Amino acid sequence: MDIGFSPEETHFREECRDWLHANVPAETRPLDAADAIGFDKAWQRQLFDAGWAGINWPTDYGGRGLSIVQQVIWLEEYAKAHAPWIGANFVGINHGGPTLIINASEEQKAYHLPRILTGEAIWCQGFSEPGAGSDLAGIKTRGRIEGDELVVNGSKIWTSFAHVADWQELVLRTEDGSRRHSGLSWVICDMHAPGITVRPIRKMSGQIEFAQVFYDDVRIPLANVVGGLGNGWKVAMSTLSFERGTGFIADQVKQGQEIDDLIATARANGMIGDDRIAHELAQMRAEVAALRAMTYRNISEVVRTGQPGAEASLIRLFTAELGQRLDRMAVALAGPEMLDFAYGDDNAVGDYLRGFAGTIAGGSAQIQRDIIGERLLGLPRSR
Ligand SMILES: Cc1cc2nc3c(=O)[nH]c(=O)nc-3n(C[C@H](O)[C@H](O)[C@H](O)COP(=O)(O)OP(=O)(O)OC[C@H]3O[C@@H](n4cnc5c(N)ncnc54)[C@H](O)[C@@H]3O)c2cc1C
Repeated sequence: MDIGFSPEETHFREECRDWLHANVPAETRPLDAADAIGFDKAWQRQLFDAGWAGINWPTDYGGRGLSIVQQVIWLEEYAKAHAPWIGANFVGINHGGPTLIINASEEQKAYHLPRILTGEAIWCQGFSEPGAGSDLAGIKTRGRIEGDELVVNGSKIWTSFAHVADWQELVLRTEDGSRRHSGLSWVICDMHAPGITVRPIRKMSGQIEFAQVFYDDVRIPLANVVGGLGNGWKVAMSTLSFERGTGFIADQVKQGQEIDDLIATARANGMIGDDRIAHELAQMRAEVAALRAMTYRNISEVVRTGQPGAEASLIRLFTAELGQRLDRMAVALAGPEMLDFAYGDDNAVGDYLRGFAGTIAGGSAQIQRDIIGERLLGLPRSR
């Protein structure tokens, strides 16, 4: 594997840097949920109009058709420029869209992919249920086939951005009497359809970013099934491989910037003189470099195979646990000043509180360890 960048890639990096330098918004992402959605949509539209959305998505559906390496270069420059978190566009851009690209019909791709890229359509993910989070195969939400429709009943929980979403990647049971991984389907659910109730849940960071969703005789056309009726487990696994494997590249890349910022802060406030802090910063600096190497290795696998494999769990786990240590260090370096911070996305306290979710969302740390043990190390199955 050649881990250097070609002259074209270096030129591309300069283009990214120049555009970001001129266009990153001066204001931070608003704290109020409604304002934040407006901000996310406007920023996504600006990225799309300037040709920076869907860098490695097919040109037929609004993307640039460039390589995933160029996508990573963009994210590296994006982090360095302190550009905003993609917020409500997370699901559509990071795993909804990529799942559609490899599993959906032409009609489904032609309709949905451009709307995701422009920020016109917000997506959410309806996988977890009360009683079926880690154990996704235990889901109970059902879709009964009636003519050319599914009639859906049940409930999903922890659905990020459900309160503002237009569409949902919904996994449900469509075969009577089916158990576990069989008889499931992955469908595109219209979040504005009659029979859907969204009950927002407030996070410990104070924000409303996820919800419980109830389905009461919700009608979904069979034409919205992605990858074929009964093939939901396979399609869901491709969604999770994107969510765990490439969905957090932005976070991995951002950690490189964060550790440099923390070292600069510790130098500026003199705390670098504390050996314990200096040692921990050095250790995290080395781990960020190791994570970067793992990320590049993962990218080269995606280039080869089209989607991330079980190794994605290694990176997901490493990113989340390292992220929590970086957040703790940021709070420690802020010292008593942190008591003055309001909850939010853009300060040490907000990041620290949000960071707890890192080892739960997208599969908990224990589940990632299970996958690493079973699929990468060949240990006996735990379940
Ligand atoms: C911020 C945030 C956003 C989220 N967004 C979404 C979303 O948009 N859509 C969505 O569908 N879900 C979402 N989730 C839900 C997330 O996927 C689940 O919380 C997660 O999969 C864990 O499931 P659970 O909460 O039901 O916990 P449980 O599965 O009940 O697990 C409880 C504890 O038991 C441990 N455990 C369970 N099974 C095992 C096992 N076999 N071996 C070892 N330990 C085990 C877990 O690691 C955990 O510590 C989100 C969660 C968070 C925190």
